[in-house]
Amino acid sequence: GQCAVVCPTAAISVRTNVTEVWDAITDPAIRVVAQIAPAVRVAIGESFHVARGENSFGKLVAALRVMGFDEIYDTSFAADLTVMEESKELAERLEKSEKLPLFTSCCPGWVKYCENHYPEFTDNISTCRSPQGMFSPLIKDYFKEKDINENKKTIMVSIMPCTAKKGEILRPDNFTDGKQDTDYVITTQEVIRMIKQVGIQFEQLEEEAADMPFAVASGGGTIFGATGGVTEAVLRKLAKDKSYQNLKEISYIGVRGEETVKETTVTLGDREVKIAVVHGLAETGRLLERIKAGEVSYDFVEVMACRRGCIMGGGQPPFAGDRTKKGRMDGLYKADVMSNIRYPDENPVLNHMYQTNIKGKEHKLFHRNIVK
Ligand code: SF4
Repeated sequence: GQCAVVCPTAAISVRTNVTEVWDAITDPAIRVVAQIAPAVRVAIGESFHVARGENSFGKLVAALRVMGFDEIYDTSFAADLTVMEESKELAERLEKSEKLPLFTSCCPGWVKYCENHYPEFTDNISTCRSPQGMFSPLIKDYFKEKDINENKKTIMVSIMPCTAKKGEILRPDNFTDGKQDTDYVITTQEVIRMIKQVGIQFEQLEEEAADMPFAVASGGGTIFGATGGVTEAVLRKLAKDKSYQNLKEISYIGVRGEETVKETTVTLGDREVKIAVVHGLAETGRLLERIKAGEVSYDFVEVMACRRGCIMGGGQPPFAGDRTKKGRMDGLYKADVMSNIRYPDENPVLNHMYQTNIKGKEHKLFHRNIVK
């Protein structure tokens, strides 16, 4: 792939790896695994006459199978994992009253912006890798023995709404044992091009489910794709009351919607926890200035570089008008409502893995290597 696409968020030119992915698919010695980010499913259909905001996850899975991917998983599973790790970190920092506010780390556009413009806040950024960044080392670890037995190599292709994710996978703080975990990032626009290259009639595909065990995810993981979604998922995890009624209450707490800075306060134990949700880098810069000036203070801040979050990422189909933007957001919340599991900490596969194959490996696989 020699064609360069321009990243509006990081303002860098990035190369496409579409050719490398096709080569891997045709190589029988390579197990090609795909992970599909939450925001992709509610935007990809726009290019194939699917109704605005409709969840096309099942059709995309079917398309990837036709294209020859070996295993297809849902990044929302790893979003649940991120919620588990990040809420642990938040609880620890609140306990020690250190490095607050905790800033989210799942948006590489934001992480880079912070490093370049507000280095004094980099210690406050969560040590958690992003869902993409947690999923790939988990998958490689999962297939390690199988690869040896079958004389295969597993590679991970992430299907992302985001061009900045291509940079994230190259960061050494995201490596495991010194090795890059995610092999290629393919944006929504690029996967659309691949689907068209092989002439698949996307809109006519029968929906298919992703592969086990990484097809099981909570609705909390799915809403990561919209601004406020990470916070809402973390609040679900931290809630003691796991009832349907409480889900409703958390949804009204003020973290949803398009307002540029959303604020809320929740009580955890005997502590009031102040939360802010911001999206768009200009608004983020203004918020950081206010934090620095002591005009506001928070314990937890969710930052997304793109306005409205990943649903409007630089890798998504362009020229989305207001109704399309709203359609994408509504599509994610609808997917959440339709999930069998709503609370990230009630993901049975993930909970089982915490007791078995990932036990003791959390730090190595899911957190950034931070060199001081
Ligand atoms: Fe990428 Fe934008 Fe999502 Fe950040 S908010 S992860 S830059 S799509």
